[in-house]
Amino acid sequence: MIISRPKKLDDCLQILGSDPVFLIGCSDCATICHTGGESEILEMKKLLEARNLHVTGLVILDPACHLQNNKRLLKSFEQQVARAKKIFVLACGNGVQTVAELFEDKDIVAGSDSLFIGEIKRLTEFEKRCMACGDCLVDSYGGLCPISRCAKSMLNGPCGGSRGGRCEINPDIACVWEQIYRFLMKKGRMDIFHRIQPPKDWSKSLEMQRSIHCGNTK
Ligand code: SF4
Ligand code: SF4
Repeated sequence: MIISRPKKLDDCLQILGSDPVFLIGCSDCATICHTGGESEILEMKKLLEARNLHVTGLVILDPACHLQNNKRLLKSFEQQVARAKKIFVLACGNGVQTVAELFEDKDIVAGSDSLFIGEIKRLTEFEKRCMACGDCLVDSYGGLCPISRCAKSMLNGPCGGSRGGRCEINPDIACVWEQIYRFLMKKGRMDIFHRIQPPKDWSKSLEMQRSIHCGNTK
């Protein structure tokens, strides 16, 4: 899931100015993160109207990053969108850009910051788990990812700075290398732990590629 958090309202208000605005949320990740689900969109409508902004309408896309679904769903909102000068999107950066493709003549305002691909720990607690590196290596690390979860992305860790099982960079998070050690020990796979990993082949990362078709392999 893409984890996001709301931008500061004052910053958004500054960009929105006094123009009429159409509000867009997302039924998926932004709903689970409480950044752009139905209740956040309705709350935002109230906040904007309390500041005398004209909200021409609102919709929760299903999800905001689905271009074809958006085209279909937004057909019923054409008039409300037409009355707006700005489109305020409470979704991840991916969703915002999908919406932007549909409204070239409108100012698009992002209401959230996308943080990472992560795990839902509790209702409002999320942890980074993946950086979409394009060549998953977790089977070499007891099912855990040192690229996204070690502050130094060490493939041959640990770095030696961990104290009491916590990361030296941020003691709020567990040292993933300590966890990798424990997991592999439990599985009786210390042979994997002692293997030297070669430098990662970043050419497999799709970071700089524009798109793929579902079903593509490396
Ligand atoms: S190795 Fe790469 S694809 Fe696998 S979890 Fe880590 S960042 Fe994600
Ligand atoms: S303490 Fe652990 S998680 Fe933190 S940087 Fe060092 S090896 Fe990585």
